[in-house]
Amino acid sequence: MARLAQTEGLTDIQQDILSTVRDFVDKEIIPVATGLEHRDEYPTEIVEGMKELGIFGLMIPEEYGGLGESLLTYALTVEEIARGWMSVSGIINTHFIVAYMIKQHGTQEQKDYFLPKMAAGEIRGAFSMSEPGLGSDVSAIRTKGVRDGDDYVVTGQKMWLTNGGSSNLVAVLCRTDEGHPEGTAPHKSMTTFLIEKEPGFGENPQVPGLTVPGKIEKMGYKGVDTTELVLDGVRVPKDRVLGGDSGRGFYQMMDGVEVGRVNVAARGCGVAQRAFELGVSYAQQRQTFGKPIAQHQAIQFKLAEMATKVEAAHQMMVTAARKKDSGQRNDLEAGMAKYLASEYCKEVVEDAFRIHGGYGFSKEYEIERLYREAPMLLIGEGTAEIQKMIIGRRLLEEYRISG
Ligand SMILES: Cc1cc2nc3c(=O)[nH]c(=O)nc-3n(C[C@H](O)[C@H](O)[C@H](O)COP(=O)(O)OP(=O)(O)OC[C@H]3O[C@@H](n4cnc5c(N)ncnc54)[C@H](O)[C@@H]3O)c2cc1C
Repeated sequence: MARLAQTEGLTDIQQDILSTVRDFVDKEIIPVATGLEHRDEYPTEIVEGMKELGIFGLMIPEEYGGLGESLLTYALTVEEIARGWMSVSGIINTHFIVAYMIKQHGTQEQKDYFLPKMAAGEIRGAFSMSEPGLGSDVSAIRTKGVRDGDDYVVTGQKMWLTNGGSSNLVAVLCRTDEGHPEGTAPHKSMTTFLIEKEPGFGENPQVPGLTVPGKIEKMGYKGVDTTELVLDGVRVPKDRVLGGDSGRGFYQMMDGVEVGRVNVAARGCGVAQRAFELGVSYAQQRQTFGKPIAQHQAIQFKLAEMATKVEAAHQMMVTAARKKDSGQRNDLEAGMAKYLASEYCKEVVEDAFRIHGGYGFSKEYEIERLYREAPMLLIGEGTAEIQKMIIGRRLLEEYRISG
């Protein structure tokens, strides 16, 4: 896009990375995305291309074979990819969160073992908090890990794992009550386990007791697999507790989700940009009452509202990423960015859909796919209500009155 969603102050390296990614998206993703999506087909060639570009290791430090880039570079890359096809950004997002959690919280052995393979895209991550009975209320997790000698034995059922089938590493949040007296707050007795597995569905040959039932059928966000995960007495060695000590999983996952929120905001920005591009182009081609519909003021107003939302969401997402990169707490900005970008994305997509008239309802037009994709962003990495709870709490901390 020539004018909208520009980012001031990028380095030459960041600009190079983004122009390479944009080129890749325009040539390798957009032309095939809708066909693959309609067939619910995993984008294997696109994933191989992203491996070659080093995207799987974008934020992994150079000493572990990654590019060592910032959250901002990563978020802008995700924005570009989502502009092409949101499902592809889903493939890298959970991988990125798991790599980030290992980088931030892993033991030295875990970093040395996982990060180089993750940078190469050889190990690909999924992360798992949600269960059939809970999503927003993470403290209610029931899947349990019980210590048995040098292992933990994990039993329970997980839900909604993006990349649950295609990944070979899952970071699973479980309850482990060991060493914590009764009455300890639930989030203080949770542990993240790093479980390696074979990619695929069904009972896992590498991990007795672990099953990934088939893909969940979804209204959109197709191509990328979303699954359940059943753990029935799965043995996990104690050196696969993230960070080595039990009881820290809740904080580790919340840290991961915080960067994940910037990422979901970036996806919302990318999808909204694409919807705007489609709307502004169609509006200049379709004629009614003797002129292009773009010449009717009602349509121009729609375009103006759409572009303003694209711009505002982008700038807020960039602010949230830069805050984290500067080492500051960014939960307020990340919550605001995720909330605003996902709501605006849904609205911009709906306006582009309306501009398309009846054709927007046809599977031949890309906007039909975007219309089914945008709602996922309202839910993933915390719903709008959860973002507003985070934002509200933080505001009351910041603006506490004395006395
Ligand atoms: C396609 C897809 C992919 C996903 N990928 C993953 C993944 O990779 N890993 C993973 O762990 N999870 C994943 N999820 C799960 C996702 O994070 C949850 O669906 C989400 O957090 C919402 O949880 P829930 O579905 O249980 O809804 P619930 O928590 O049951 O919420 C239902 C409704 O109640 C509202 N609500 C809940 N609590 C409150 C409250 N206190 N105040 C006001 N309103 C409230 C919610 O906002 C929502 O509107 C995925 C979900 C989808 C749809």
